[in-house]
Amino acid sequence: MQIHCSVAALAALVIIAGSASAQGRGGRGTAIQPGEQCPPGTTEIRPRTCMAPEFAPPSIVDYRPRNTLKVPEHKVPKAKFPVIDYHAHVGGFLTPQRIDSLRMHMDALNLGMMLVTDNISGDRLKSVVAAVQATPTMKDRVRIFTGVRLQGAGGAGWAESVVKQLEEDVAAGAVGIGEIGKGFGLSTQKADGSLLKIDDPVLDPIWEAAARLKVPVFIHTAEPEEFFAPIDFNNERWLELALFNDRRNGPGTGRPTFADLMTQRDNLFKRHPKTTFVAAHMGWHAQDLGRLGKMFDEMPNVYAELGAVLYDIGRQPRAARDFFIKYQDRILFGKDSFQPEEYPYYWRVFETQDDYFDYYRDYHAFWKLYGVNLPDDVLKKVYYKNAMRITPNVPSASFPR
Ligand SMILES: [Zn+2]
Repeated sequence: MQIHCSVAALAALVIIAGSASAQGRGGRGTAIQPGEQCPPGTTEIRPRTCMAPEFAPPSIVDYRPRNTLKVPEHKVPKAKFPVIDYHAHVGGFLTPQRIDSLRMHMDALNLGMMLVTDNISGDRLKSVVAAVQATPTMKDRVRIFTGVRLQGAGGAGWAESVVKQLEEDVAAGAVGIGEIGKGFGLSTQKADGSLLKIDDPVLDPIWEAAARLKVPVFIHTAEPEEFFAPIDFNNERWLELALFNDRRNGPGTGRPTFADLMTQRDNLFKRHPKTTFVAAHMGWHAQDLGRLGKMFDEMPNVYAELGAVLYDIGRQPRAARDFFIKYQDRILFGKDSFQPEEYPYYWRVFETQDDYFDYYRDYHAFWKLYGVNLPDDVLKKVYYKNAMRITPNVPSASFPR
């Protein structure tokens, strides 16, 4: 008690000194104890002194400060080397009527090839492959991934029919499986109505068939870790969670936790070392590259696609550069949502060392991006060489060696 009192007395002295000068500049300082946070609506203007702004603060959607930093800018409308997009949702373009408009977008951006990860299977796969093959300018620039029906797993005859369909789809031209969507682990049910776990052994025949047919499995597991956290004002993705109710997986939703899903995913990857897995969105570990590196070290059959996590790569340019150089054989370019005007942000992050530039989605990130400036050899691997190495029947003639 004696010690506690004298600490408080010392703190009071410091606060008196602090608030005297705060008052001297016309401010209204409010003292807090060491280790305490400023109350809502106030900010710490000097150690242990909080103050409310004189004007009502803007909300985070209205605060759009002008960037006054003057530094060289290098916009990159077109990638330096041709790119394979490993995460392309462009199935709707693959008709005789629309396919040429896709080609024009690809040419403008230097996208050499789209790997269409729309789970196209059966007769639809055959007609899409036919539409691509019938278009001389596109027949070597689009390849299709097939889907596997996971809902109802474990039912009578389910495994045989899924594997048979997979074999037929690969024979019809599919070069991979996916995108296996985020519902796998979160909502997909077994035949008995229970939640299908990602590492459920009932699925083994699919992963074994993928290894036998030598096709990669492109799998999206979970969501950004913050989507599983409480939606409070310390959540980095507060705005996105407030905008989109279908992205909320946090406490009280009855969903598995982020940690559970990652454990199930890693169990799957480890139990099938002969199957090539590509984790979409860098496995949602782009903000924790040490963890992704550990996965790469422990699981040589695992690769990572970088779609929709540019905000995490571009906010750690030095660490990301080291990581991309160290794991240059394991990372694949992918974009996910097909918005042609967004690709140049990726080129700029990977190819320049520009400072402090805008990202394209305010609700993903409230910070700016920095260029990672990858060496050409690494850029080529990330842009196309890795995709070519792990994916069958990808024509290579139009790509640099
Ligand atoms: Zn996707």
